[in-house]
Amino acid sequence: MKTDTENQADSQAKAVEEYEKTLERWFGEATKEDVQKVIDKLGEWEKLPYSKLVKLNLDLCSNCGACADECHIYKTLPRKEFNPVYRVKLLRSVYQKYFTWVGKVFGRFAGARKLDKELLKEWFVRFYQCNMCRRCNIFCPFGVDNMAIVRTGRLLINDVMGKTTEDMGRGVRYHLRDGNASEMSEAAFRNIVSFWEDEIKEVKGWDVKVPIDVVGAEMFLIPPNTDYFHSLETMEGIAATLYAANVSWTMSSKIFDSVNYGTFFNDEAWASIITQHIEEAKRLKCKTLVVGECGHATKSLMFLGPSLLGEFPFEVKNILQVTADLIQHDRIKLNKEANPETVTYHDPCNVTRMCGIMEEPRIILRAACMDFREMTPNRDRNYCCGGGGGVVLETASHDFRMEVTGKLKAEQMQRTGAKIVVTSCANCKVEISHLIDQYKLDMKWAGVHDMVLNALEL
Ligand code: SF4
Ligand code: SF4
Repeated sequence: MKTDTENQADSQAKAVEEYEKTLERWFGEATKEDVQKVIDKLGEWEKLPYSKLVKLNLDLCSNCGACADECHIYKTLPRKEFNPVYRVKLLRSVYQKYFTWVGKVFGRFAGARKLDKELLKEWFVRFYQCNMCRRCNIFCPFGVDNMAIVRTGRLLINDVMGKTTEDMGRGVRYHLRDGNASEMSEAAFRNIVSFWEDEIKEVKGWDVKVPIDVVGAEMFLIPPNTDYFHSLETMEGIAATLYAANVSWTMSSKIFDSVNYGTFFNDEAWASIITQHIEEAKRLKCKTLVVGECGHATKSLMFLGPSLLGEFPFEVKNILQVTADLIQHDRIKLNKEANPETVTYHDPCNVTRMCGIMEEPRIILRAACMDFREMTPNRDRNYCCGGGGGVVLETASHDFRMEVTGKLKAEQMQRTGAKIVVTSCANCKVEISHLIDQYKLDMKWAGVHDMVLNALEL
């Protein structure tokens, strides 16, 4: 008879093995030409301006190991392949072999390694197991950024072989074709918006009309497509908040999805999708492009966009910043008693570690809820939900996320004793909802603006 610990180890091993097999199947087989092209690309890519940062990261890692225990994946399952250093070495060893004199002369003795078909397959598997959450980065004494290294590995493979994970690849294809990642038509968009309006009328009694295609509105709001299906109350809360504060705002009937999965594996796709967002914001002549409750889209538009494409002719904000500002300027009225249950907040990695938006959700939740309590650790030290880096987008990753990447998060949520876990990223909401089901936690999940919707008064 096996103990609980042994049973748990078995299910973790099975979940890892199955997801690795799926990743290997998605990768298929590389040819000798693919291998050579990746090496060539690594040479060309080295000339690009932002690669200097990644090269610096590769050079700086001293193998001290301080990052290992800070990674939720390695902490849950301390296999050598899950150690952040292992991934750094996967790219660094090949870089050394072909592009440093030490590696060329001393080879393996200097840690250099020849790239071959098997190693390339391993790159794919390992780089798609990382949540790109950058928690290891803040504990590294040299600031080595595993997210940048993982992204580079994914980029190289996708550039040369067109390979990525299944659902994420599909999302990008749809986005480039239709302007959104879920094949939603303009008619479907208008139907959903009208459903939000009906729901607000029913819950609050207010005649909210969501403005669409209003040229010259001060704010242009783009939420993530997931919130149209998975988190309707979040969108209703945002619409009701902007209505209650009498904000000049609009949505677009053409570009209504903030997600940009290119962020995770392909610069060209990323740039095409972000260009759709930028051009629509220019057409609507908005002063501020407001990203809904979406972590990677906030990173893409607020941080990556201006760094890689130059400054935009408008400001970019996350909706949390807008609502916190409305509260601080007494432009909306919230009644905490509408939210009497204990609430905790999961800090999404991209919103927090990448964009520094940490106090705003707390200002909102403290104003909207009777009993807000922190998770430990929190803010930029918080653990990833386990779905970051696009891992949550894959149906096939479910068991891997539940047994390994999300396990620490489930324990962290449970320890708070809260009845509602609130978060501000659409992908985190999906992952957290799965964790609550998997671990049978006595709690619900919600978006920040779901709580605002309950508490708003005119
Ligand atoms: S980025 Fe996150 S998931 Fe990846 S190695 Fe670092 S801590 Fe682990
Ligand atoms: S903490 Fe930084 S320097 Fe140390 S092993 Fe990790 S990445 Fe390398």
